[in-house]
Amino acid sequence: MRLKVAIIGSGPAGYYTAEGLVKQFGDQVEIDIIDRLPTPFGLIRAGVAPDHQSIKGVTRRYEETQAAGDIRFFGNLQIGDAISIAELRELYHAVVLATGAPHDRPLGVPGDGLPGVIGAAAFVGWYNGHPDFVDLAPPLDTSAVAVIGNGNVAIDVARVLVKSPDEMAGSDLARHAAELIHASAIRDVYVFGRRSLLDVSFTPKEVGELAELTELTDAVPLVDPGQLPPDGAEAALDPGQRKVIGHLRSFALRRADEKPRRIHFVFCARPLRVLGEDRATGLELERTCVRDGQAVGTGETFTIDCGLVIPCIGYRTRSIAGVPFDNARGRFVNDEGLIEPGLYCVGWSRRGPSGTIGTNRPDGFAIAEKIAAAGLTGERAGRAGLGRLIEERDLWVVGFDDWKTIDAAEVARARIGAPREKFVRIEEMLAAAGRSG
Ligand SMILES: Cc1cc2nc3c(=O)[nH]c(=O)nc-3n(C[C@H](O)[C@H](O)[C@H](O)COP(=O)(O)OP(=O)(O)OC[C@H]3O[C@@H](n4cnc5c(N)ncnc54)[C@H](O)[C@@H]3O)c2cc1C
Repeated sequence: MRLKVAIIGSGPAGYYTAEGLVKQFGDQVEIDIIDRLPTPFGLIRAGVAPDHQSIKGVTRRYEETQAAGDIRFFGNLQIGDAISIAELRELYHAVVLATGAPHDRPLGVPGDGLPGVIGAAAFVGWYNGHPDFVDLAPPLDTSAVAVIGNGNVAIDVARVLVKSPDEMAGSDLARHAAELIHASAIRDVYVFGRRSLLDVSFTPKEVGELAELTELTDAVPLVDPGQLPPDGAEAALDPGQRKVIGHLRSFALRRADEKPRRIHFVFCARPLRVLGEDRATGLELERTCVRDGQAVGTGETFTIDCGLVIPCIGYRTRSIAGVPFDNARGRFVNDEGLIEPGLYCVGWSRRGPSGTIGTNRPDGFAIAEKIAAAGLTGERAGRAGLGRLIEERDLWVVGFDDWKTIDAAEVARARIGAPREKFVRIEEMLAAAGRSG
């Protein structure tokens, strides 16, 4: 018997699971990787910053995986919509949900639904050319932006907003976003963290890039010297965190008038409400202090004027009919990846939005081991059955070769110095693949 596995989602978790399965079963496994988009690789394409091309190079490994086993890519196929989970479970011995966490966690303060409050999933998706967000049109006619959160996504967003066109020339920033960002009125980007400078989740590389802003044409990073911890306060932290703190300390030595644009890091401040009548015009915050690792309000408030608020405070998985969902945690109910016999989840849809790309590798391998240990038996229609459903329902599905055609077309139409010019609408992608009839 050949094992038949469907993996829903072609991001890192999906591809590492496939890699693990091929290692476990060799040619005794048939794997179908299904994605709602015609383009594979999830957040590598739509999340990782457009000016971090070397990180995106990890997709070469997924291409190797794709070629290594009996793996078929089915793009432009949304599970839970065009085809249900129940149908897939009939067709395959195992179904693995690797659907990521594509929804923003709401800010949870009054005014967070106003136009001009745009979560990181949407904003990053917009500048990275994700088809769901092409028409977002964020209000960049504002001189100030508030970015909420002290993780790397907040830094990505701040950096992309202030880098000059020349500095983004080697990126794959989507054209619609480049046009708006580079014509924007933005002068000040505030990055707010609830806790102290010692508690940030930035990594040295991301903050280090800002430390080199001396070399950048347009922007200076700033920290109010009054927010610095006492000398040596970071001594007990690990070397990476000490490096981050060192960079942040160096920002306190910079002057606001060095460059036309500024990134202000403001710690111990939590949003109380978004100000504005019919769109965001400002943010009210409360100063906090940190007690037992928690941010505690002090009652002291302040406001900033800003026309755009970008919460970068975490993500939630999209629920799928027929799959138990933990609404409080925003992910599938699972026991170390097992949802029900034959149904698994992996990556961000298993553990929530934490960890790097590499964190998904042991996660994917562990699911492959679980599938191997489950001793799944019986005959299943697998790919042939899926093919029949696709045909019956007249669905336009793209294969990996189609993706390679789209990829080549994007590379061919890149502006000089850029790696690619992405197609940002599904129809454009299908047309590039020659699949639009
Ligand atoms: C803004 C941002 C920047 C990041 N930058 C870095 C970085 O620089 N370095 C780093 O190491 N990590 C980075 N990460 C983290 C990294 O991207 C994640 O660890 C990783 O992408 C999670 O992988 P995943 O496969 O679980 O989810 P995703 O990568 O989100 O993949 C999920 C896939 O499932 C598909 N899908 C969803 N629902 C369905 C459905 N119903 N049917 C079919 N397909 C579906 C989606 O289209 C998507 O392709 C970043 C994350 C974000 C948000």
